[in-house]
Amino acid sequence: MNVALFGGTFDPIHRGHLAVARAAMERYALGKVLFVPANIQPLKKHAPVTAYIHRYAMVSLAVAGEKKFVPSLLEAPNPQGPAHPSYTIDTVRTLRRSLRKSDRLFILIGIDAFIHIAKWRESEALLRGCEFIVANRPGFSLAHVARALPESMRPEAMVSQLFRKQKPSGDLAIGGAMIHLLEEVEDPSSATKIRTTAAKGGNLGTVVGESVAEYIRKVGLYRAKAEPEDDERTEAKPKLEIVGGKAHRKGSEPARHSKRS
Ligand code: ATP
Repeated sequence: MNVALFGGTFDPIHRGHLAVARAAMERYALGKVLFVPANIQPLKKHAPVTAYIHRYAMVSLAVAGEKKFVPSLLEAPNPQGPAHPSYTIDTVRTLRRSLRKSDRLFILIGIDAFIHIAKWRESEALLRGCEFIVANRPGFSLAHVARALPESMRPEAMVSQLFRKQKPSGDLAIGGAMIHLLEEVEDPSSATKIRTTAAKGGNLGTVVGESVAEYIRKVGLYRAKAEPEDDERTEAKPKLEIVGGKAHRKGSEPARHSKRS
């Protein structure tokens, strides 16, 4: 079976994520897409993010109608253990133990996250160990993909230069890695914009779907609030805590991250 691991902050999951997963599923005959919310993102460990339990709940609601989309606890916090960042290479190693030898494992990722791949833990091993499906987002070219690779796998600067005006599409077999470029999805949805809209009391139904929009309303996520005890956004913590310290001032979007490693 072809299995894709789709990791992210999912704060919240939105139409763009689902569109990318659907396009990848059709193009690469995926039998399963695992949606894996990260507990702690390694590249920005201290950025405030909504409690894991809410992000996982929203992912579960959003994929409920899709047989092949599975919410995954692979990067869930361990309530007994110390807090540690979610490294994709570890997640892949754990996941591989439950797969058959004949299963083909893909990492599904947006191009804005892929451009940081060289900073990920054991990035070369990861790139050589799984196939990547990189979904385009507006404003990126093939050169962004080439330049993002770890130095040992990167093409000559001259080659990257030639890629500058090319759309990221087709398959790139390079330095032992296989990168599939998914160009047809150019959905402008972003979780950052959604949080801003939610803080202003805007309608979220079309961009996150009714069930997630209702969850956000009921639980009161992303509200612009002054009081710390009412603030649902908190720094990532090891425990399944729902309410934490004050993460940002009233009306302001806290600095945060969306990149994995
Ligand atoms: P933020 O706006 O907070 O950075 P985000 O919308 O990018 O969040 P993430 O949870 O960080 O959401 O994204 C998880 C993965 O999905 C990343 O690989 C990201 O690149 C990809 N992704 C998110 N939105 C889109 C989109 N509209 N099109 C293509 N890929 C996307």
